[in-house]
Amino acid sequence: MPLGEFEVIARYFTRATPRRDVLLGVGDDAALLAPPPGQALVAATDTLVEGRHFLPGTPPLSVGHNALAVNLSDLAAMGADPAWALLALSLPDPDERWLEEFAGGLHALATRHGVALVGGDTVSGPLVVTVAVLGFVPADAALRRSGAKPGDAVYVSGTPGVAAAGLDLLRRGVMTFESRDPRVQRMLFAEPRLALGRALRGRASAAMDVSDGLLGDLDKLARASTVGAVLELERLPIAPMLADAYDRAQCERLVLHGGDDYELLFTMPADGAAARAAEIAEQAGCAVHRIGRIVAGEGVRCLREGREEPVTGGGYDHFAH
Ligand SMILES: [Mg+2]
Repeated sequence: MPLGEFEVIARYFTRATPRRDVLLGVGDDAALLAPPPGQALVAATDTLVEGRHFLPGTPPLSVGHNALAVNLSDLAAMGADPAWALLALSLPDPDERWLEEFAGGLHALATRHGVALVGGDTVSGPLVVTVAVLGFVPADAALRRSGAKPGDAVYVSGTPGVAAAGLDLLRRGVMTFESRDPRVQRMLFAEPRLALGRALRGRASAAMDVSDGLLGDLDKLARASTVGAVLELERLPIAPMLADAYDRAQCERLVLHGGDDYELLFTMPADGAAARAAEIAEQAGCAVHRIGRIVAGEGVRCLREGREEPVTGGGYDHFAH
């Protein structure tokens, strides 16, 4: 007999939480939560659709992990501490092994970041996963996209493009979901930059997470701040594991247009930026790279050794959704 909705939620999505701000979790009509006084509540939601946001046949451990990770990344981009999550799951068939692994991926990441799953809903339908997360940030310390000023330095964390390389290797059949290759693993298990978000409080003038590609997302940040930006191509951080499999031009395309890394893009005043960046990297436990600067005007221009170079948008067929 197939599992009923109640049983699915009870068996896979109900876990005890040590969080004392969960007055009532899964099981009633709604959760009762106690936000800390004096902090702003931060809320984000994201939906992953099979075949659109993840490849058919993606291991359920990865789907569960990433459904939460992409939401936690949005909280990281606001400088927030995550607290609670809600899940709405549309599933063609309540396969027990699939559910077990999916829930395992979700709960493992939630536990790692102290997040309690406080509500869930399952329905029968195509495979679609929606997660909502809630967290807190001191209201005056929240990071926004809109604070960048001309003269600010532009930074990105980590090495964007690696997840896109993993996706490319999977799509071309060079790798499989079972590969332990770090590029494939990065694509399957995004690592939200929560510690970095916290380290940017009071230091960054603007921030966002890179979900659609560095170039396009820098354009979004610049628009939100009503400024322009200059990207210095020779400064792009290129992971050695990209350079191993792609030439320089392909590497740059992966870094500029590849999504799914969930690194943070941020700006800060150029004065003292190098010292501040070192503190941030130390506090967050991840590298941050200066890749350009904010200018007056609008749009993003790419320079190589000071000379403007046209960079076409997208154009990397492997990533066409
Ligand atoms: Mg975002």
